[in-house]
Amino acid sequence: MSTHWWYIIKVSDILHNLWVKDTLKFSNKFSTFLPQIQDPWMSFTVLLIWLSDDQLIVEITDINAPLKQTCDYCGKDYIYTFTNKIIQTKAYLWEKDDDQFELEIDKKNKTINLEKWLCDNIQIEIPVVNMCKKCQKKWREETEELPKYNSVIWKSN
Ligand SMILES: [Zn+2]
Repeated sequence: MSTHWWYIIKVSDILHNLWVKDTLKFSNKFSTFLPQIQDPWMSFTVLLIWLSDDQLIVEITDINAPLKQTCDYCGKDYIYTFTNKIIQTKAYLWEKDDDQFELEIDKKNKTINLEKWLCDNIQIEIPVVNMCKKCQKKWREETEELPKYNSVIWKSN
């Protein structure tokens, strides 16, 4: 999988300008790291804040990603829209001994690559159980009916 150029962001403009913020809006962005993504693809807002000599705060908000899921119950495909998760990390300019950071600033080009980091964070948040709206409705109706059904049996005894 290769990175799409639009996920590579130049951070040189805000480098070493303490507490300088930069907001970037993205829309209709495709990624092979999220193979289930559908038209109109992904939209999100990136907020960059230069924190100290070697640290940059990277925050992604307003994520909207329509994803094709297959319902575990009826087997039909449906669209699950991933929304509103805030993803935040620190990106470091200098190499750290510990491996705790998830984003690295490319020292030569002064860029960060958001693609894999963003897509991995979305992938983690996708529900394990896939249920289409129709099956969700059916599921709710059946679980609501359960106590009534039990009480009928109880009365008949
Ligand atoms: Zn279903």
